[in-house]
Formats: sequence, structure tokens, C-alpha cells
Amino acid sequence: MPRILQLPHHVVTKIAAGEVIERPASVVKELVENAIDAGATRIDIELEQGGIERICVVDDGCGIAAEDLPLAFSSHATSKLASADDLFRISTMGFRGEALASIGSVARVLLQSCPLDQAHGAEISCEGGTLGEIRPWNGAPGTRMDVRHLFFNVPVRKKFLKSIATELGHTCEMITRLALAHPGRHFHLRHNGKLVYDIPATAGVPERIGLFFGGDIREALYPLDTGHADIRLVGYIADPRCDRGNAKLQYLFLNGRWFRDRSLGHALQEAYRGLLMTGRYAIGFLDLTMPPELVDVNVHPTKAEVRFRDASLVYSLVRSSVKSRLLQANLIPRLEVPASASAPGAIGETASPRSEVPEPQTLFTMQAPRRESTPSLLPSAVMIQPPERPAASRSQYELPQAPPSMPTQPAHPQPVAETPVPGPSEPVMPPADLPTPEPVPEDSRPDAADLGELPIPTPGTALQVHDAYLVLETPEGMLVIDQHALHERILYEQLRRRIRDGKLEVQRLLIPEPVELPAEHAALVLEFAPALADLGLEVSDFGGGTILLSSYPTLLSRRPPHEIFASVVDHLVTQDRAPTKEALLDHLLATMACKAAVKAGDRLNPEEIAYLLHLRAFAEDSHHCPHGRPTSLLFSRQELDRQFRRI
Ligand code: ADP
Ligand code: MG
Repeated sequence: MPRILQLPHHVVTKIAAGEVIERPASVVKELVENAIDAGATRIDIELEQGGIERICVVDDGCGIAAEDLPLAFSSHATSKLASADDLFRISTMGFRGEALASIGSVARVLLQSCPLDQAHGAEISCEGGTLGEIRPWNGAPGTRMDVRHLFFNVPVRKKFLKSIATELGHTCEMITRLALAHPGRHFHLRHNGKLVYDIPATAGVPERIGLFFGGDIREALYPLDTGHADIRLVGYIADPRCDRGNAKLQYLFLNGRWFRDRSLGHALQEAYRGLLMTGRYAIGFLDLTMPPELVDVNVHPTKAEVRFRDASLVYSLVRSSVKSRLLQANLIPRLEVPASASAPGAIGETASPRSEVPEPQTLFTMQAPRRESTPSLLPSAVMIQPPERPAASRSQYELPQAPPSMPTQPAHPQPVAETPVPGPSEPVMPPADLPTPEPVPEDSRPDAADLGELPIPTPGTALQVHDAYLVLETPEGMLVIDQHALHERILYEQLRRRIRDGKLEVQRLLIPEPVELPAEHAALVLEFAPALADLGLEVSDFGGGTILLSSYPTLLSRRPPHEIFASVVDHLVTQDRAPTKEALLDHLLATMACKAAVKAGDRLNPEEIAYLLHLRAFAEDSHHCPHGRPTSLLFSRQELDRQFRRI
């Protein structure tokens, strides 16, 4: 029978080290955090061979007294925690007293330190867990940690290290997190003698974001500062046009420490829902501050994960704060012609224009919308109070409400069939009730004669081009609206709002419509019957792969019910399962809105155009369709003047 033996101390430490020290970046993290805890204002990091050969961290913090030097390397020795209760009030980066013991057991370390209030310092070595003598050291006040030959005595772990470039990459990422969380400190990183980062204390968070991720992102940041009770959320989120193919640029900090949290990443993505294409990720730097007792940071060896006392509260705070910040922003993409394309001779003066003219994507670049100082193009929802609709028109079985006389509808405004009454931010006004634009006297139209027969839109109206786009004059310039994308967004928001408020009106079919489907699709549809009912689509089984559709949302009555239903079925059978019911409903809403909206190619009459533009002013986000494509592009007056060389 095998005997039970107590493991020797050095083995225990090595096992513990395995949890904390995985690679050079982990050493850098622990040493820099110690420097921050010591109150350092400047931290110099020097690496050789990605840190595998040598890591040296020098700080100007409070230093360590000579007699405490051996203690720094003993496990569970810390100056930051005195009692178990303190564990729940942690405000320092470190508190376990494990890092130096771990590093000392798997590398050759020289610790040199001089307390701020003393003339001389001292040094001690620790090699593979063996402490050396305390000797005098005549360095500057602060602490210097020189770590060589990481894992020299744990060859298995050394084998797991990756290339120098990869290890350096991990360390840079670590320093990025630390530098973003501690904007008041100077960070300096050199690798093999070459400067990698020099980030002065004066560089605040946006400057640091610019340094690490580029000026474009820095220019596209929206600051955030909100909170709830004792929890504060500050940070920066980037304009949706700066999206990414992965979530790497989503940084979360809690009480000054980087952490990872899938759920909060999800909250951030949710806030951007409808502004990003599928598979694209938002950029955000979010910093939460809360009393230490509201969160347990002691659930992960390197404190990379935390446990909130009220996780759902933090989730909602992040989602709603980011979302409302995005709504405040004027998110109309601007079209600008890059300087190279507008240089004389760039277009049209070449021998073979067809091959030389840049593709539209390269000719135009999306520019960040101007923020804050720029007035919104159209009145926002809160500023417009749509007139109360007379109660008499609210009958459940009247004709459905839709932008009246959209192509498949009769040309006259329809009575509104919505019950119950929509919220104040939701207009249901048919065009007939809209204030008619002031007719512009013929002679006051500028240069009308010069332009010959070209139609000039009167103020407040738009010109439809290619039966797909609406071109509109605005105080800022010329706005081009994608009629389908805009209508899709409007329908999507109306549906979503009504479903959320339990006020979705459905039209019952007198005779349920049979829809034949492959058996497995029919089974899938029936599985989702409750979710579909929430969307106003009532389905039941007729047997033999036939589904009976007995109702549909009134709002979508521009298209035949079976077409809407078919698009929903398509979505159900081709998409991966949505992670939550909410996400599924949202995808289906977007699908239905897309199906029911006017299309490119649909000719709109002036009434319909006016109506669409009217609804645009009430949309929560009129700038993007539910799939994240822009609904409008602005050609600024300045850009037009520039292109025509007026300025
Ligand atoms: P912890 O940070 O969890 O306390 P460490 O093993 O990282 O544990 O460090 C042990 C102790 O050594 C710290 O509590 C601190 O008192 C001291 N120490 C480590 N690094 C520094 C430093 N750069 N400056 C001042 N004191 C330090
Ligand atoms: Mg520490």
C-alpha cells in the first residue's frame, strides 16, 4: 500500500509557482504590480530574449527594509494583508504574498532595494528557492528586481515557453493592461536594448489607447462616466465603425486591475447590437470602481477573474450605460474622398481610366462622425412629441399600420390599426397629418434656371434616386439615405418596442395559412412555437410537415404573411442556435423587419418619402440597420466645397 508523505517545502512552492508563474509575462505582471503597490511613479522594465533570459524591473517606490528582504521571498509573507477580514477589503494589487516566493523558486533572482527614507539599501539573492546573504547595496531609492533564467530548474515548464516574439507579445499585452489601468505612472519597456514603449505619466488613458492601438481608434472614442449606487463605470468606447474581428480590444478593469469577464464582454456587445455586423466586435475600455466588499477578487490564482456580489446589476449597468452613450453620439458615417484620389489627375486623366479609377471602397473612406459639438441632423426622439392620435381611430381590426401607400399598399393614408396606443416616442402619424412643407416660391429657388429641368427638392423633402436612395439637403451638407436600411431599422424598432411592452398587435388570419415544410424544418418551427408567438406568429401542427400559420404582426402587413414566415423559417434552419431567447427574438425581428421593409427598386411617392423621413426622426438609432449597415451617409458641405475646389 502506498504511504502518504508530506511533500517537501520546495516541491510545494514549485507547485504553487506553476499556478502563478506561467511565462515571462506573469513575472512582469507580478513585479510591476508590486511596484505599483509600492507607490512607484516610474517603472522601467528591461527584457532579454522575450524575458526568458532576463527580466529586470526597477521602480522608485517605497522600497523594502534590509531586514525584510528574506521575508519578501517566503511564501504567504506580505505587507498588504494582516487579517482574514482584510481579504474582503483588498485595495492593493497583491495580497497573497506568493509572487516573489514563486519567482524565487523557479529562477535566479537578485532583489535590491533602498527604502525612501534611508541612505543605504541592501540586496539579497534567491536562486531556485535558496536564499543568499543580505549585503549592502548602494542604489537609488526604490526597488530593483533582476530575474534571470526563468524555469532553469523546471525544464518541463521551460519547454512550454513559446518563441521569443510570442513571449514578448504576451509581455507587451500585460504592460498594455497595466498602463491602461494606471495612467498616472510612467512605463518604460526595453527589449534586447531597444526601446519598445516609453509612456510618460502625462499620457492619460486616451493617449495611451492611441499609443497602443493607433490614432484612428483614439479619434473615435466616446468617454463614458456613469454609475449606480456605489458602483462607478468610467472609460471609453469606440465608434462602431472601428469594429474588430475579435474581442481583443475589449478591456475591463476593476478597481485598477485588469480582469476578464465573458458576461460583461457580452453586455458590451449587446449594447452595440444593431450597430455592428454579425461576427464583428466592439472596442471598449471600461473601468469599474466599487467598494471591495461588493466583489471577491480572490477566486483566481492570478486574479484574472472576479466574482461580483450582484453580477446582473453590473451587467445591466455596463449594457445600458454603453448603449445610451452610443445613442447620444451622432453616428452618421461621413463620406470623404482621400486626398490622393482628389489630387489633380488622379481620376479621369489617366490613359486607361477604367483600370485606374479606384473601386468605390478605396475611393471613399468612412470617417468618424463629428461628435458633441455637431448638432444632430434631425430632431431626436425626445425632442419631438408626436400629436396624440384620436381614440376613435384605434380599432383592433382596422387596416394595419404601415408607412401608408408603400408600394404594396393603396396610395392613401390608412387608418391606424394599432392597439394599444404606442408610447410617446413612437409616431404612427399618417402623412396626411404631417405639417405640409411650406411651398418655396419659384423665384427664390437658387439657380433653378441654370439647372434646367432638374428637380429641386423642396426643404424637408428628398429626391429618390435609382429607386433606392433618398438624397436630402441638411444644414451640414448632403445626406444620402438607403431607403431599405432605414425602413428596416424603423420597423425593427417598432416591433421590438411593442414586443417589449407587450403591445404587439397581431392580425388573425380568417383562414389559417398552411405552409408546407420539410419534416425536420416543421419540427424545428414547432419547437420554437412559443418564441414565434412572442413575435406575433402563431403556428400549429397540421401534420405531415404542414404548419398552420394563424396570425402575424400587423406592423408587417406590407408583405404577405407567408413571406414573412418563410424568412423566419429560413433563419431558424440556417443559423446557429442563438445563445439566449432574447438574442433569438432579436435576430428574428431583424429578419422580419428586413423582409417587410421597402426594397431597393421600390419607387416611393413624395408622401411615402416624407413619411419615412418623419419616422426617421423618431428612431432610437436611425443611423444603422439592424444588421449594422449604415442607413445614411453624409457628404459634408465642406467636403463638397473641397471636391469642387471652392476651398
Ligand atoms: P504580495 O504582493 O501579494 O504582498 P509578493 O510576493 O508579490 O506578495 O511580495 C511580498 C512582499 O514584498 C510585498 O508584500 C511587499 O511588502 C514586498 N515587495 C515586493 N516587491 C516590492 C517592491 N517593488 N517595492 C516594495 N516592496 C515590495
Ligand atoms: Mg505582489
